[in-house]
Amino acid sequence: MVSSVKSKTLNTYESWNLVSVSIPARSRLYNLEPMGIGTGSVECLTSYTSRLAAAHCLSPAVLLGRTLAPLMGKKYWLQGGARPGTRGSALGNSFGVHAKAVNGTGIIAKDWITVLECLTLRNDLGFLTMRPWSKVFTQRNLLRSMRAWCPSCYEEWRENDQIIYEPLSWTFREVEVCLHHRRRLRFQCHHCVRKLPWLARCTRPGYCSKCSQWLGTGFSEHSPDMVIPDDELEWQMWVGKSLEEMIVGATHLPSPPKERMAKAVSLCIAQASEGIMNRFACLIGKRKNTVWGWQHGKTQIPINDLLRICYRVRVSLVDFLYSEFFIPREVEFFPIVSVSGVTTTRRTPRPFDRETTELALRTMLKDQPPFPMKEVATRLNVDKRFLYKHFPVLCKAISARNAKHQDVYYEKLRRQYEKDIKHATSRLRSSGIYPSRRRVAALISKPEGLRGSVRGKPLLPLSDLHIAA
Ligand SMILES: [Zn+2]
Ligand SMILES: [Zn+2]
Repeated sequence: MVSSVKSKTLNTYESWNLVSVSIPARSRLYNLEPMGIGTGSVECLTSYTSRLAAAHCLSPAVLLGRTLAPLMGKKYWLQGGARPGTRGSALGNSFGVHAKAVNGTGIIAKDWITVLECLTLRNDLGFLTMRPWSKVFTQRNLLRSMRAWCPSCYEEWRENDQIIYEPLSWTFREVEVCLHHRRRLRFQCHHCVRKLPWLARCTRPGYCSKCSQWLGTGFSEHSPDMVIPDDELEWQMWVGKSLEEMIVGATHLPSPPKERMAKAVSLCIAQASEGIMNRFACLIGKRKNTVWGWQHGKTQIPINDLLRICYRVRVSLVDFLYSEFFIPREVEFFPIVSVSGVTTTRRTPRPFDRETTELALRTMLKDQPPFPMKEVATRLNVDKRFLYKHFPVLCKAISARNAKHQDVYYEKLRRQYEKDIKHATSRLRSSGIYPSRRRVAALISKPEGLRGSVRGKPLLPLSDLHIAA
């Protein structure tokens, strides 16, 4: 009886699984996704760091000083380059200029990647730096010291409500033109005309870290930075595309080992110039000792030279770094960018019109004010030594006339300064003040005249003026 009552009053509940649920590890900072990961437009680590700081409503300096630097265990990031005993903050003082290394191949980039991956629990932040090529790239000519940006990219992203960031490709020194807008990158804020470090106390992608103004500008075909000569544009398009392909390649392929460069150079020599190193050195416009060093792994190829070699022998940079086999083309000499950055072909001498040049020189001999010979040569687009060789009398006359004019000008300037100083001295004396050099300098309009010179002669012989320092 008792048991039947019990069975009526008791409810039956669903069974519970008491096995504890595994909770994924929590990250200390947001697991912010990098922009453009896996593409050639991936963002750089300094850009990621400033966006990560902003996501936590912090400045990069506070994020670095309070969270990242203590984990890195490097005093210099905590002090920001300040003298011991002074109150220096992270990224303060002159340390901002070293921030470029955060995006580079070295130990600084490695420290930042380790700490940021640990705090965000991401494992892909190495692709935001040049670490994938740390064994093959030398630091020389690799990183751009200060920030560079395409104002049109910023403007376009803002108009389309996209996230503003800085691609890794902008940190390469060889990249000077935006691939998408075919305009030159900017290196100075167009409001305060200052250069900016890659990471400063208050860096925000798209904004100046000195004056906080927006760095984007509209697309204008008449803007002076839009005018890029065809050959330079062709070269820059090739550089930009090659680096983007290389950035994409790094996400799928293992990092190239140190021996890779020597092997690839040997392959180029074998196929582009029948294994003859001298001929290859000549083809790329470099000394044979330099090429020998590269071929035998004694020295590393700076990236500017590497890009020019690849362009010269028509091999893609990604093939050079990653492919086991590639076929460089044997290239005949023709005027393209050589490894040294200058054209290797000799220019055809321009015809020399003696009569016209002489007439131009005679006219310039009467010009007022007279030109120096350097200016004359520039105006005629002829080498100064060439002019002296063919028209010695005329050139000497032009030079002497200019020298005389300079002497007259100097004397005039000197007399004016003497007058000013005497006037200032007597003013001070009449007020009962001793006319020291500093007091006199403060009164006259151009105090720098006190230590200046014109054509190597001191402007003011102070001993003559009896003024003490
Ligand atoms: Zn752009
Ligand atoms: Zn500014």
